[in-house]
Amino acid sequence: MKTVSDYFGSMVFDDRAMRASLSADVYASLRKTIDEGSALDISVANAVAEAMKNWAVSKGATHFTHWFQPLTGITAEKHEAFISPSPDGSVIMEFSGKELIKGEPDASSFPSGGLRATFEARGYTAWDPTSYAFMKGKTLCIPTAFCSYGGPALDKKTPLLRSMEVLSKQALRILRLFGNNTAKRVISSVGPEQEYFLITREMYEKRPDLRFSGRTLFGAKPPKGQELDDHYFGVIKPSVSAFMEDLNDELWKLGILAKTEHNEVAPAQHELAPIYTTTNIATDHNQLTMEMMQKVAARHGLVCLLHEKPFAGVNGSGKHNNWSIATDSGQNLLSPGDTPYENAQFLIFLCAVIKAVDDYQDLLRISVATAGNDHRLGANEAPPAVISIFLGDELNAVLEAIESDTPYKGTKKKVMRLGAEVLPKFNRDTTDRNRTSPFAYTGNKFEFRMLGSSNSIACTNIMLNSAVAESLRVIADSLEKAKDFESELHDLIRDTIRNHKRIIFNGNGYDDAWIEEATKKRGLLNYRTTADCMPHLLDKKNVTMLTSLGVFTDEELRSRRDIMLENYCKSVVIEARTMISMARTMIAPAVEEYAAYVAGAANAKKSLSSDIACTYEKNLVRKLSGLLDDICTKTDALEAVLPLLQDAKDIVEESAVVRDRLLPAMDELRIPCDEAEVLTDKKYWPFPTYSDLLFGVK
Ligand code: ADP
Ligand code: MG
Repeated sequence: MKTVSDYFGSMVFDDRAMRASLSADVYASLRKTIDEGSALDISVANAVAEAMKNWAVSKGATHFTHWFQPLTGITAEKHEAFISPSPDGSVIMEFSGKELIKGEPDASSFPSGGLRATFEARGYTAWDPTSYAFMKGKTLCIPTAFCSYGGPALDKKTPLLRSMEVLSKQALRILRLFGNNTAKRVISSVGPEQEYFLITREMYEKRPDLRFSGRTLFGAKPPKGQELDDHYFGVIKPSVSAFMEDLNDELWKLGILAKTEHNEVAPAQHELAPIYTTTNIATDHNQLTMEMMQKVAARHGLVCLLHEKPFAGVNGSGKHNNWSIATDSGQNLLSPGDTPYENAQFLIFLCAVIKAVDDYQDLLRISVATAGNDHRLGANEAPPAVISIFLGDELNAVLEAIESDTPYKGTKKKVMRLGAEVLPKFNRDTTDRNRTSPFAYTGNKFEFRMLGSSNSIACTNIMLNSAVAESLRVIADSLEKAKDFESELHDLIRDTIRNHKRIIFNGNGYDDAWIEEATKKRGLLNYRTTADCMPHLLDKKNVTMLTSLGVFTDEELRSRRDIMLENYCKSVVIEARTMISMARTMIAPAVEEYAAYVAGAANAKKSLSSDIACTYEKNLVRKLSGLLDDICTKTDALEAVLPLLQDAKDIVEESAVVRDRLLPAMDELRIPCDEAEVLTDKKYWPFPTYSDLLFGVK
């Protein structure tokens, strides 16, 4: 029998495959490109392309594609066959270095937020050699960045790579100050935990809301939800288990380190976590994981829902972005060290993160903003829309001692100075857990928990890397000039804690009192919706930071704000239209039919004997008729909001109409529909209910 180690990465043109198929010279120059970002010679590219093609063809490939991540948030590919005609009528399989390096998909239908109007209409894709090519079906997929001819990025990968670069550059400046002259790069790594729901395909097909919007727009609460907590970590059902096995196999073949799987809190909800890797690769892998989840589910007669809130009343799905930074030799910079001096270095990096999260709360919030995730943030299963950092008791005590110049328990009553001799050794505190914090320190990494399950992790990591790079830049600027390094280091750490401690919160983030304190006393931001936060992408401080670091240009930011808001408006409009159609063509007719049946039954009884009161029938028909009127009025009211969107003068105003008028009108319509559901004979109800959906997988 084949073991996992026999086939792990078998569908990836990884280091092993490269070494086996490339000449030593070609391998060495490719490696240099991958490790150091040096330019690739066309002769090397030709040799790599030839080897890649031969490898792919041996795995059954007929096509290749540049695989990229446009601003739609999903991945895109355009397949090209390897074939090239021969004079004798046959074909040969060809693939050149030029085709490997650069592609020209017809980009006109990808969102560009107006960028292509000002630049050139075409876009091109450029090979990202730092992420390995892989096989999907019969196609060789080559990870690429996607740019327009004028230069601006049209994708999520380009700014992500830029952000990794600037973070590395600034972090190295700090390491040099601490005497590390050997590190060549600092790498940010991510382990994204992915939540999802599985339901049966048969039921899914019967619900237009699931098919068009990925979530249920109607549905009364089932008698049983998640109140017994009997699903979390529970025994995995046979068909789910078969799905997970199959999924793991597919992911392992793609070199994805799928590691942990378990049931989540809500019925039908599950989680998959991979082992962390470099941010860029983790992003590619997470996109592939989401795609594979859907493909594999289809093979098992299931549908994988990646929406953030597929069902009202039970938990939604998120994604936890476990993030850390390490040197190329593997030293984790967010891990307390063994010596006081290492700990001083750790505290500087910690302070950089604290300052970054406080200064750029808005950017982190923006990075997870979608119509879907708005249903989750601030509901009582997910972190609030307010960002704060959890540090744990031990670290908190250390910071408090530094801040107030008072003794820390380990310092034998001596006021703590950060000089080499006095800073105590403290242990990383892994027992301490806080599940309600949006941004929690977990011993050697931070776990950012606000991401929605369908979000690309690129956005969050672009913002996180950039914000931390900016903090490090400010810190390095000041420490490089220091006359007395240790003393200024100490003051800098103390001042950073003083200036940014409002962002540190170790209590219960789900508590209403916290939101009150956070917003009223501490002045933290609370952007409830996408429409609230997204315009702030263009706030001066954000634009200045992101453009001065070179992560985005002005016009890239403007276009991204527009695309995100357009996406928000369009998704909600699709939901609204789906609701209108379901209410009119499915729900109202079903209620009407059932009411008519009940009325008919009453008439039949009365014709038998006129003294039968038929109280039950009369009451029920009265209620159903009342609900029908309500459904009708509220459907019309919802429909009447749609034209207002056209009247909005720009996308910011349109998104406000979506938030203030459209979404409330949808909530209104849902109420009588859900009330009618529980009064209507199940035989008449036109689609599967919450009970069916949540407990339907065997
Ligand atoms: P949980 O948060 O569920 O308790 P763990 O803390 O074990 O689980 O890990 C969650 C994720 O964090 C995993 O994907 C793991 O690989 C990742 N992780 C661990 N160390 C790091 C690191 N240094 N950088 C980024 N991610 C990491
Ligand atoms: Mg976790």
